[in-house]
Amino acid sequence: MKGPSPKIEKIYQQVVDRNPGETEFHQAVCEVLDSLGQVIQKYPKYADHKIIERICEPERQIIFRVPWTDDKGNIHINRGFRVEFNSALGPYKGGLRFHESVYLGIIKFLGFEQIFKNALTGMPIGGGKGGSDFNPKGRTDSEIMRFCQSFMTELYRHLGEYTDVPAGDIGVGGREIGYMFGQYKRITNRYEAGVLTGKGLSWGGSLVRTEATGYGAVYFVNEMLKMKKQSFEGKTCVVSGSGNVAIYTVEKINQLGGKVVAMSDSNGYIFDKRGIDLNLVKQLKEVERRRIKDYCEYHKGASYIDGGNIWEVPCQVAMPSATQNELDAKDAEMLVKNGCIAVGEGANMPTTPEGTKVFLSGGVLFGPGKAANAGGVATSALEMQQNASRDSWSFEHTEKRLHDIMVGIHKACYEQSEEFGQPGNYIMGANIASFRKVADAMISLGLV
Ligand code: NDP
Repeated sequence: MKGPSPKIEKIYQQVVDRNPGETEFHQAVCEVLDSLGQVIQKYPKYADHKIIERICEPERQIIFRVPWTDDKGNIHINRGFRVEFNSALGPYKGGLRFHESVYLGIIKFLGFEQIFKNALTGMPIGGGKGGSDFNPKGRTDSEIMRFCQSFMTELYRHLGEYTDVPAGDIGVGGREIGYMFGQYKRITNRYEAGVLTGKGLSWGGSLVRTEATGYGAVYFVNEMLKMKKQSFEGKTCVVSGSGNVAIYTVEKINQLGGKVVAMSDSNGYIFDKRGIDLNLVKQLKEVERRRIKDYCEYHKGASYIDGGNIWEVPCQVAMPSATQNELDAKDAEMLVKNGCIAVGEGANMPTTPEGTKVFLSGGVLFGPGKAANAGGVATSALEMQQNASRDSWSFEHTEKRLHDIMVGIHKACYEQSEEFGQPGNYIMGANIASFRKVADAMISLGLV
């Protein structure tokens, strides 16, 4: 990193030295610190209180063994993580990821991002993240249940509705949250609905939570487009991934008059020039848990590009919604060349720093993940509100709350980008708006 000031450069170097090998964490820290040069110049109190150094160090990190047996009776040992990063604004809040690539550096990058994302929502939630290097692909339902129960048998002692409230992420959806909630309830003998979010609708979940991240990301991009007197109407779009975030991103784009022509998974992408048939994708992915290539069995006019790069498909709006670092500088150049005018990150940190630079210098509207995908955690906080008041709200009411929150996040980011001299740089705006909120709370709470 060539930092924005020698002071920040030094802090970044300390983070790298203290957290060796955790490259995704370094990347996430670098991206935030890059925006803060002018902030500490204008507000020296943040340097005086050593806020940046403190914010980069998690409050607590938990690593534990997760033993479980498969259906044949073989024993497996996985590693579980929960990084409780910052609780200045509220209980730690952030999802659990089950994916074979998970290690401490991934969980720390996600936990770090979560602090700022949660602050942007305006809700009283701190930042944390967790997960395991468990690979759920191809596992039976009973294997998933035993894994989740074992995972929760350790994790439960660190959780609580006022302490730490996990949710889903890659590889963790309603089914996994159900098994974990069941085990939490059994061990603690408490029906503490507010301890996990993303619950089923009949046992404490919130309407709109399933849709929230995708819908929210589209609302955010829509706000960016409005600033340029544009809309989704008639726009060709590409959405990577075919999981929770991707599916509901496509749904909301369709509702706003756009057309999504490509989706993907980690093996390849599908292209359907008539527009993706979302009901089929939902059936394949949510009900039958199949691969995206199976789409072409039902739509002969569509094609599947095995091992292909989805960013080669021309589009005006790109929504990376799969995983970190899935879109690099070459992909970004291709998108710009093909006429892309807006990018909204549904996933966390899907664009590499070099890719981001290409978009900014190409004048592309760029909604960074911590702002654009904050609708998921915001609706989790709405789920917690409903749990605390033993209430459940209508779809319309909850969706309106989500929409208002996303409009508010866009406004906060834009205003900060203006105050610091780069109107429309949403990366800078998101980093500064959220940093100041957390930093001010940390100062108020004293040196803890
Ligand atoms: P899902 O597990 O539902 O879906 C993940 C999708 O991304 C799948 O299509 C998967 O394909 C693909 N994918 C995962 N890893 C890779 C990889 N290494 N290379 C290529 N494709 C990959 O997860 P979500 O939709 O919930 O999460 C997607 C992203 O959104 C993540 O970055 C997550 O952190 C972020 N996010 C999620 C929120 C939520 O509410 N769920 C909230 C905010 C952010 P395959 O099946 O082949 O692995």
